[in-house]
Amino acid sequence: MDSKDYIVIEDIYGAHNYHPLDVVITKAKGIWMWDVEGNKYLDFLSAYSAVNQGHCHPRIVKTLQTQAKKLTLTSRAFRNDQWPLLAKELCELTGFNMVLPMNSGAEAVETAIKLARKWAYQKKGVPQDEAEIIACTNNFHGRTVTIISFSTEPSYRQDFGPFTPGFKIVPFGDAEALEAAITPRTAAFLVEPIQAEAGILIPPDGYLKKAKEICEKNNVLFIADEIQTGLGRVGKMFACEYEGVKPDIMVIGKSLGGGCYAISAVLSTTEIMGLFKPGEHGSTFGGNPLACAVAREALRVIQDERLVEQAAEKGTYFLEKLKTIKSHHIKEIRGRGLLIGIELYPEAGGARRFCEEMMNERLLCKETHENVIRFAPPLIISKKELDWAFKRIKNVFKRLN
Ligand SMILES: *Cc1c(COP(=O)(O)O)cnc(C)c1O
Repeated sequence: MDSKDYIVIEDIYGAHNYHPLDVVITKAKGIWMWDVEGNKYLDFLSAYSAVNQGHCHPRIVKTLQTQAKKLTLTSRAFRNDQWPLLAKELCELTGFNMVLPMNSGAEAVETAIKLARKWAYQKKGVPQDEAEIIACTNNFHGRTVTIISFSTEPSYRQDFGPFTPGFKIVPFGDAEALEAAITPRTAAFLVEPIQAEAGILIPPDGYLKKAKEICEKNNVLFIADEIQTGLGRVGKMFACEYEGVKPDIMVIGKSLGGGCYAISAVLSTTEIMGLFKPGEHGSTFGGNPLACAVAREALRVIQDERLVEQAAEKGTYFLEKLKTIKSHHIKEIRGRGLLIGIELYPEAGGARRFCEEMMNERLLCKETHENVIRFAPPLIISKKELDWAFKRIKNVFKRLN
């Protein structure tokens, strides 16, 4: 079978809820991927930052294999010997003191929402069923009905109502608007420190710090969604560190599983997380020993290979290089660490055709929304390999003039 055969079968039997590039990957190692014809590509997306450690990292794969032969699932009806150690290591790494494990990012965001509401009723004294959570324009927190209830992207919501009430929207980056939106019923402010899906939108300097101060002053929880920005991607372990902000609740996922397993987590203080009592929340697979063993190794790899520092150094290097590209299509190039966006003018004909052309140059990246090309290679990439990518990106901008 060749690529065309796989694409035909997928399009017949698989739901069409994505619009992938027509490349059929069969194996990957580190920063490289191979299609079924044997062509080699540089991965410049990292599965939306779920593979910060690189594909099939030998240590993570070995841990996966070893643990898979030993114990994979107990459910939380019983205890296992991996979850306690992941919980401890995550808390030590992040400075939080309690953690709840889930599987996908969206589930972890849902968990944070439930937790914030519980806190509002039990600690803040908000009347039952009246808690409000404030989110931002252009947010992306996942795809469940509750989460899309506060999306501002029409295509995420169309035909999926009725929606979950209890959410308010304020413009991203506008601290005054946040302050104005807070009422005595406000439980939490939910924010991505950098909006990745929206097009690598970096808020004005001081925004997160100001927002956190406003939350503290008004007894409102600050929830950071670090699912995509966390674990080294942006050149700090967590993006909130750029402003010295410690969230009340932090949500992580994606690279927590090292690209090998789906695992997410919600971190908070004992005072807040301690509000969950047995039976009030859970997940059959959440905290399973296979996921936990993989996550423990994934975190160790980030530390041992200094991926946070790598992302900072390589990101600065690459961003400077990208800024030398001259093209009348480019409106702005922005990024932090190795999360970089090239925003094109609407007249450029959309980011998709640039991504398709880069695929022909053996560089795999993906547009986000209409006009932004996102670059997010695995954090293990070298300068030489970035130079290789740069040459190809430059070619594409020359060709698509
Ligand atoms: C990917 C992502 C999610 C959702 O994670 P899933 O694992 O796809 O459910 C939530 N928030 C942010 C910021 C993300 O990037």
